[in-house]
Amino acid sequence: MSNDTVGVDRTGERLKKEANHVPSSGRFYKSNDPHKNMRLTDCCAATSTHMDDGSDGWVLCCKHCYHTVDVGEGDGNEYLTKYWEERAFNV
Ligand SMILES: [Zn+2]
Repeated sequence: MSNDTVGVDRTGERLKKEANHVPSSGRFYKSNDPHKNMRLTDCCAATSTHMDDGSDGWVLCCKHCYHTVDVGEGDGNEYLTKYWEERAFNV
């Protein structure tokens, strides 16, 4: 299959392939340093950034598709080890 017409990949398929995926949670984690095992955005397996929402504050957005994401997705607040720790406590 030819990839001649590849445009902007808004679904992050390439990023998802490069990331560590935990199928049970649907979450993606960074597979390489720096910040290895840092949680990435659910939508694109990308990092996120805070952007002005134009009214009363800042929202966390996926750097790849610019949709808003939850705290912990790609902002460095959540790591894979933390996820597994939480799982262990909840069993
Ligand atoms: Zn995204």
